[in-house]
Amino acid sequence: MSAKVRLFVDQPLGAAQPVPLTREQAHYLFGVMRLDVGAFVALFNGTDGEWQAEVAEAGKRKGILVCRTQSKPQSVPPDVWLLFAPIKKARTDFIVEKAVEMGVRRIVPVQTAFTNSERIRQDRLQAHAVEAAEQCGATFVPEVGDLTKLDRLLTNWDSTRQIAFCDESLVGETGRLPDAPGPWAILIGPEGGFSEAERTRLRALDHATPISLGPRILRADTAAVAALTLWQTTLGDWA
Ligand code: SAH
Repeated sequence: MSAKVRLFVDQPLGAAQPVPLTREQAHYLFGVMRLDVGAFVALFNGTDGEWQAEVAEAGKRKGILVCRTQSKPQSVPPDVWLLFAPIKKARTDFIVEKAVEMGVRRIVPVQTAFTNSERIRQDRLQAHAVEAAEQCGATFVPEVGDLTKLDRLLTNWDSTRQIAFCDESLVGETGRLPDAPGPWAILIGPEGGFSEAERTRLRALDHATPISLGPRILRADTAAVAALTLWQTTLGDWA
């Protein structure tokens, strides 16, 4: 039995486990998707894998599903974080969505010298991450952090996590991602790029490596996907 609808729920999942639905979830499953008692829905919660759950009660504003069989074990993407400077709303949403599809452990919006946005809607970005996970079959949803100043982030950085600093000043030059296993973070700048002060600071860090993304300047959203592709093929779970 393979369900058409895949839903993230903030509830424990396990054999014969009943799962009460929120008002929104009930509206979506029974109002929008027109499911009825006996239908199956795929559920995941980020920790218990994916379960095929049967609709036991269907109401306008509430409902109960019951987990029947586990269809996927829990899996966790490789330990890479995406640090990016938020840009325009639609492109920021795109970056979060693509990061989830590409597989990251954590997403951190970073305020750099040339970042325009002073604030982000963390809850909205987190909801995007959930939607992307529902859509791409992942059982893990990366946490989206709060907007953090680059300066503070680097000061408090755990140096066992390496940083792939995507440096647009290396456009067309060599600057390869080292084949060094361990925890990583990829850092993507805003449309205005990095300031000279930021570049100098990042280049001075032992745990940061400036990398090039080829002979053309990519937009930040493209750069995020390209860098994650590079990382996943070199060090991640594409192997
Ligand atoms: N306005 C800047 C470009 C910023 S592109 C300029 O014209 O120089 C946005 C971000 O994408 C950059 O900060 C960098 O992190 C990444 N990026 C884009 N193209 C890149 C490339 N060829 N090599 C490395 N990083 C790149």
